[in-house]
Amino acid sequence: MPRIWINGKLYDKADAKVSVYDHGLLYGDGVFEGIRVYSGKVFRLTEHLERLYESARSIWLEIPLTREQMAQAVEDTVRANNKQDGYIRLVITRGAGGLGLDPRKTADPQVIIIVDDISMYPQELYDNGLEIVTASTIRNHPNAVNPRIKSLNYLNNILAKIEAIRAGCLEAIMLNANGEVAECTGDNIFVVKNGELRTPPPNAGILDGITRAAVMELATKDGIPVREMTLTRHDIYVADEVFLTGTAAEVIAVVKVDGRAVGSGKPGKMTRQLRERFQVLVRE
Ligand code: PMP
Repeated sequence: MPRIWINGKLYDKADAKVSVYDHGLLYGDGVFEGIRVYSGKVFRLTEHLERLYESARSIWLEIPLTREQMAQAVEDTVRANNKQDGYIRLVITRGAGGLGLDPRKTADPQVIIIVDDISMYPQELYDNGLEIVTASTIRNHPNAVNPRIKSLNYLNNILAKIEAIRAGCLEAIMLNANGEVAECTGDNIFVVKNGELRTPPPNAGILDGITRAAVMELATKDGIPVREMTLTRHDIYVADEVFLTGTAAEVIAVVKVDGRAVGSGKPGKMTRQLRERFQVLVRE
């Protein structure tokens, strides 16, 4: 039975609750992080907390804990759950308030830490690659809710995910308002072309992924040229390889996009190399 941390106290899953007046529920007003635990060690906690505090700052939400206190709370909750390998969901809501938007009417931001098992793609998809489609729902415009904010309002991504599911896929490419490739509903996207690794820059309207950064570092260490650049669907269709990165997905090959085979139609060499390197990195 998971033990869930809320505002400094541990609760059984059945007793871990927030108010129905919480603006996190009423308006998606809050921020979150998804983090992995590998062999008892929290992966890139500092980077995740950096992103969490930036998301919070961007929406004028003050987290009532210092980063050090938050890091300690995360570690404590992992220990309390005796979890060697798992997934951490860190959630900060604006707190309970009136039935109006005004965030000043909320008083008690809820800090929630859930440590549970990780649900990943089936092994078969890691071996053979994923089929994805392009969604017609575009990614949020950066001047609306910037995708760099990992906010509790994920409807933009959920709508694209529904399109993926209805097309018989598990992921979908989301374009930005300029029609350029941004990312997938819960993963960042990379292409390999002529030995070079390419991915859209943060200002394409993406979540600046922690796994994305780790994979770019690993590629650079292996002497692979890495370039952040604007990508269109054309670049995806003519790519030698395509893969996705994310905390839950790690590194996974894409072998079909919009019904077209990517490269050879099988997980590519560089994708397999970087997936292997990533597996080693997380266990270091
Ligand atoms: N893009 C979106 C929209 C996401 O929600 C996520 C996280 N699930 C990612 C990309 C990947 O980011 P990270 O590697 O930090 O998990």
